[in-house]
Amino acid sequence: MSVHFIGPQPEIVGVLDLQGGVHEHLEHLERLELPYRRVKEAKDFENLAGLILPGGESTCLARLLHIFGLVEAIGRHAGRGMKLWGTCAGAILLATQVAGEKNCLGLIDMQIERNGFGSQLDSFHSEALIEAVSPAPIPLTFIRAPKIRSVGKDVKVLLRIDDYIAAAENDRVVVTVFHPELTGCLALHRYFALKCGLHPRSEDVSEDWDTASWMKLARIAS
Ligand code: GLN
Repeated sequence: MSVHFIGPQPEIVGVLDLQGGVHEHLEHLERLELPYRRVKEAKDFENLAGLILPGGESTCLARLLHIFGLVEAIGRHAGRGMKLWGTCAGAILLATQVAGEKNCLGLIDMQIERNGFGSQLDSFHSEALIEAVSPAPIPLTFIRAPKIRSVGKDVKVLLRIDDYIAAAENDRVVVTVFHPELTGCLALHRYFALKCGLHPRSEDVSEDWDTASWMKLARIAS
């Protein structure tokens, strides 16, 4: 069942700003000329078309979500049509089942295994074609990433590699175990914006990306 917004179309993309890689997502949204907002408390959900849950440490993020009362707020806004995208730790937070641990938000029917590739030292970079997202291969950065082991019937696999699923979605949630915000590629941010019903800048501005640009944004924002 697809969930549509009731009333005017919300137009802001929020990035959960409790811990983890927040600035990098904000920088990609800025490059797509999308209105964005940092989300720290329940009042920040107003007019959000979508919310990005960044990478970081899922145990820490889950605790903070509970402490700030945001588990209930996210569930309620997902119910009114707000879309969600979890990258890495964010994907762990959204899963219905986390191997050997308690789940947090349970908004996408899948089983995920934390640290599926080993330690931080086993982080790596590769690329793959995700047909639903972009006609060209997308760079993939895995940092102590989880592996999605299986998904439910209502979940579409966007990218399968070897013995795991790297990207998937249902009608309201996208999950990626890698970090598009740590590359110059805007394809997944654009894909999520379109899922939110928004109008991201369409030209590819990836080439003039430099790794320091999100750091400049971080200085301006603080
Ligand atoms: N290993 C982290 C966790 O299990 C996720 C790492 C990341 O988000 N890059 O929470």
